[in-house]
Amino acid sequence: MGYSTPAEFDAAYRSTQAVFASGLTKKKEWRRHQLKRAWWMIEDNKERMATALYADLHKDRQETFFAECGVTQSDILHTLDKLDQWTQDERPARTNMLNFLGRAVVRKEPLGVTLIIGSWNFPINLLLQPMVAAIAAGCAVILKPSELAPAAQKLLREIIPKYMDPGAIRCVTAGPEEMQYVLTHRFDHIFYTGSPRIARVIQTAATKYLTPVTLELGGQAPAIVTATANIDLSAKHIAATKFMTAGQVCVNVNHVLVDPRVRDVLISHLIQHFDVFMGGRDTRPEGYTHVINEHHFDRLENLLQRTSGQIIYGGHRDRATRFFSPTIVVGVQPGDALLAEELFGPILPVVDAELNTAIAITRGMEHPLAIYGFTDDRNEQSRILNETQSGGVTFNDCMLHVAARDAPFGGIGNSGHGYHHGIHGLLAFSHLRTHIHALPFWMESLMEARYPPYSRQKTST
Ligand code: NAD
Repeated sequence: MGYSTPAEFDAAYRSTQAVFASGLTKKKEWRRHQLKRAWWMIEDNKERMATALYADLHKDRQETFFAECGVTQSDILHTLDKLDQWTQDERPARTNMLNFLGRAVVRKEPLGVTLIIGSWNFPINLLLQPMVAAIAAGCAVILKPSELAPAAQKLLREIIPKYMDPGAIRCVTAGPEEMQYVLTHRFDHIFYTGSPRIARVIQTAATKYLTPVTLELGGQAPAIVTATANIDLSAKHIAATKFMTAGQVCVNVNHVLVDPRVRDVLISHLIQHFDVFMGGRDTRPEGYTHVINEHHFDRLENLLQRTSGQIIYGGHRDRATRFFSPTIVVGVQPGDALLAEELFGPILPVVDAELNTAIAITRGMEHPLAIYGFTDDRNEQSRILNETQSGGVTFNDCMLHVAARDAPFGGIGNSGHGYHHGIHGLLAFSHLRTHIHALPFWMESLMEARYPPYSRQKTST
């Protein structure tokens, strides 16, 4: 499938602008109807989504049903349930004299037409979850799936016009070159999920019109394992996370910073758990995701060539199918190639670092999207929380902070800005518009104090 032509994009742009201007998308009935249509779109096409993601990523069907379809459908039902509550006006308390001149009401208004740019690792969820929030807020939407997952892109482009309002919710396709044209347009908001490198392109384009941007990026999330941790469980969580989508997850463990006293036992448990998940050594289980494309395969291959660490587990790879097994690399030192960039793949570097060093190393890198602290010691947990910065933190597990319903999810610094999930998603696509109706005219005589000439007597109340 080719990309949308400039004329096709212009048609989508004009349509979304016109429908938003008509006020249709602000209507609650419209929002509810679209959310229900989105739920059915997923329900009716689950099997096709699983097939598409298997073609793009060799992704396990169950993972697609759960992490792509189930998570998004559950989000839709929750949004439908909470829509009235979340969109209610807010009335700040009357706390001073000025409040009595007129009571403030804060209304959540849709920002307008939003451009949502998706990533390829969860091409359904990462496009449709922000869409759900944008619809809930009352926005019109242009969706741009990732071209790097072509089967998912093709499917989305086919089904979105069939299920969603064809005037207000449009799906366009574009690669980097076509995006240059797309980004010359003025949007009221851009929601971008992807790498910090391309985020700079998006943010620069948005600056021209002062368009607000939500950036959901990635980073080098460390797992900090101290001597007080439950080592077997820590290893299990780290290995499971690295297995998921072959490490191509924004909140994946990027590297392990482990107290040298428990390093060997942690590694032996990591190996045990990888063996279980993979069904043995040198196997190619059906349920294991492959690397998305040759470019990323070569990037990971190159990192393995350049590391000064030693591969002690895995390392099996096949460029033709882009199979890349979970690979543990030990003896990795700060400054190593494996720590220079977000890995976004199944390589797991293990670095010797007791807590002070682990915190220092983490502080010396860009703020990650997540930090995982494995420790049973409250004091150590407080130190990790207080002495580092990251999008979120989970202690003694992985990724749980992402799944916490209604809690904000987002990055900081290089891992992004802005939030989504629950009401925070709706707020990302909303303008908080304060309005006040002043006191009736007949009460004007009570307000003389605010007019000049001022006098101590007038203002001393
Ligand atoms: P990417 O930045 O290469 O691509 C993301 C999107 O940007 C795609 O839709 C692509 O078409 C578009 N794009 C690419 N080049 C462009 C250009 N020059 N101009 C405009 N748009 C362009 O990222 P990716 O490789 O798809 O994803 C990997 C990154 O995304 C990782 O850093 C990962 O951590 C991050 N990520 C973050 C989240 C999150 O929720 N925070 C989720 C998934 C992935």
